[in-house]
Amino acid sequence: MRGLYIHIPFCRSKCPYCSFYSYIEKDETIIEKYFNTLIEEIKSYNNLSFDTIYIGGGTPSSVNPKILDVFFNSLFKLIKYSGEEFTIEVNPNSFTKDFIEVISRYSIDRISMGVQSLDNNVLKLLGRDHNADDIYKTLELIDLEKFRLNLDIIYDIPTVDDKIIFDTLTNIININPSHISAYSYQHEDTGYLANCIDLDKTIFLDIEKQMCENGYEKYEVSNFSKKGMESKHNMIYWNMNEYIGIGSSASSMYHNDKDIRIRYTNTADIKKYIEGIQNLEKVFDDYEELDIDKQISESLIFGLRLRDGIDICEIEKRYEKNISDTIKKNIDILISKELLKCQKEKLIATERGREVLDTLSLYLL
Ligand code: SF4
Repeated sequence: MRGLYIHIPFCRSKCPYCSFYSYIEKDETIIEKYFNTLIEEIKSYNNLSFDTIYIGGGTPSSVNPKILDVFFNSLFKLIKYSGEEFTIEVNPNSFTKDFIEVISRYSIDRISMGVQSLDNNVLKLLGRDHNADDIYKTLELIDLEKFRLNLDIIYDIPTVDDKIIFDTLTNIININPSHISAYSYQHEDTGYLANCIDLDKTIFLDIEKQMCENGYEKYEVSNFSKKGMESKHNMIYWNMNEYIGIGSSASSMYHNDKDIRIRYTNTADIKKYIEGIQNLEKVFDDYEELDIDKQISESLIFGLRLRDGIDICEIEKRYEKNISDTIKKNIDILISKELLKCQKEKLIATERGREVLDTLSLYLL
């Protein structure tokens, strides 16, 4: 499986909590120039084939549908797409009939919407430019027979009562999307692993419980889906398969023509990105060659995010190398602290382990 990610950095407004590379761009000539540059970047890869495509941002739905139409038309002349999954991210206020008409023509079969909350005060607090009515009106435009739907929500928001978060979750579940992504507003307590006490409890496990009671399987730390509706594109990242990222701040990882696994991130600076591609010179924010040890480490880290956990033997077979004694020792320690467990020959994070997964991964290596 190989995925194509395309980054659209434009938004109608900037949410204060957002860490993605995105900004408000009103000049359509710059937007058009950016889309032309995306096409030039794709050309630099020579006829690649992909199983999944993901258009993220930023807010892809904020772009004039005519520009998207021209872009998709050119894109499909340059790539081969096997038709596994084609997702586009949208936001309520920029989702129009013209937009849906365009995306329907280009085999897009999955829509991911940044809902975040269905409570108007919370939406205001988060700095979102939509209210709950806008969300419901947008949802009416989406034919669920035609598109698989993911809705993003945020929990653990400071000053917001848990009940309000759970009301949103109940209403989201009633909408019946095939997929829900739930992200914590707060970072986990990095001191937890040191003493395993005083964990500032999040509502993470209660969110998980309510989802599971309503037919959603948790297949990754922040992602829940109806059976068989997992995001195939995101599974490519977590399974350490190949992906190409196009656009400012987009990352790629694949075997180059010397059979070295490389990973790099395009510059986030849109001006430098456009100038670089136009001068046939890519500008990176980072670039690295991944040796086997690094690939093994990352397979462990990503694997622990997944419901099915990791099969150590499978990883050793895939990379033709045994995992190090240090990692083995750390796994034993984490098992003794009940943060990891072995189940059907797989290593998976326990309930406690899932709450502090990022810290746990750091400790493991
Ligand atoms: S709409 Fe999304 S990408 Fe844009 S600023 Fe808000 S959170 Fe960030």
